[in-house]
Amino acid sequence: MTRTYLDYNATAPIRREARAAVIAAMEATGNPSSVHAEGRAARRIVEDVRGGVASLCGVAARCVTFASGATEAVNAALNPRFGVGPKESPIERLIVAAGEHPCALHGHRFPLSTVEMAPLCPDGRIDLDWLADACGRPGRALLALQGANNETGVVQPVSEAAAIVHAAGGLLFCDAVQLAGRVSFNAAALGADALALSAHKIGGPKGAGALVAANVDLSLGEPLIRGGGQERGARAGTESVASIAGFGAAIRACVADMAEEAPRLLALREHLADHVRGAAPDAVIFGESAPRLPNTLCFAVPGIEAATLMIALDLAGVAVSSGSACSSGKVTPSHVLAAMGVAPDLARGAIRVSVGWASTDRDAEHFAEAFSGAIRRMRAGRAAGAV
Ligand code: PLP
Repeated sequence: MTRTYLDYNATAPIRREARAAVIAAMEATGNPSSVHAEGRAARRIVEDVRGGVASLCGVAARCVTFASGATEAVNAALNPRFGVGPKESPIERLIVAAGEHPCALHGHRFPLSTVEMAPLCPDGRIDLDWLADACGRPGRALLALQGANNETGVVQPVSEAAAIVHAAGGLLFCDAVQLAGRVSFNAAALGADALALSAHKIGGPKGAGALVAANVDLSLGEPLIRGGGQERGARAGTESVASIAGFGAAIRACVADMAEEAPRLLALREHLADHVRGAAPDAVIFGESAPRLPNTLCFAVPGIEAATLMIALDLAGVAVSSGSACSSGKVTPSHVLAAMGVAPDLARGAIRVSVGWASTDRDAEHFAEAFSGAIRRMRAGRAAGAV
């Protein structure tokens, strides 16, 4: 059976360029910390990619620390010593937006009594009035705010939030995992003091990512992983040279394609949305009134459970996700939709369709066929059950 993969926000298929770079880097024998020729060759691979990550974010190469993925980068960054020099006031509070990924909501290292949750507006964006009030309260704050949400694709007003936080003397950390490679951005325009990135969301290998300290010295904080002096002491452990090489190749491919890919993916997403509305005119699209990533469609059909629909689509050869992949399997509705005020009954129907570099019009047609068939059968089953 033909399979159609429409779950790029969970992970993207590896790009050909990234696979080739991983395989080539596997041949680099040396440890990047070794001074001999083999070590220097491995070091060159790592430093080339460091330059690529830096230019993607508009920062200097020394600002980039490689990690095992965005979860580690977020965990490492979100601590009360976040970039705070000896002469600066300490960070006393963490404000975390209610729709953040669990790696920020549960992975930070702040005492819980110092953590506040910033509410979202019904369109999925952070409530900036609430933020301004919160920043007016005593205590220097760090705000953790995504560039774009993994479930709904809603793009956060990061630069506006940064202006509010900075005016109050605070700092902003941006989880740019879903933004990177899809929308062009740079740390200064976002107003982000630091950012996290993940390789596998952009067609690189799983298990690589970066913490980008755009405007702060994150080496002042307590490293999450201690041991050798790799990554200037900020992250111990021999660098995963092959994964880093794949990360770099994926970045290059995304940057080269972005101008054509963004409108192509947007057209594909709108095509998918038309199919959804055609088969289920009562479908609700979440975050529709906010700016969204061009590749993400999150919707629910009233009365239809996401788990049932997702299984029906999977059996018909189409891979989508319900809520975020990390919480799949849980029956609790998405915390993101709950924060947007979506009723639990409707939220339980949330399906996320996300497209990317290998998605085609044929994929949209396959989805349309599978989706309309599933909806027809479910509605017929319900009508028969009601007789
Ligand atoms: N942040 C967001 C918005 C994500 O979507 C993900 C992936 O699910 C992560 C962080 C974690 O990334 P990684 O899988 O590299 O740890």
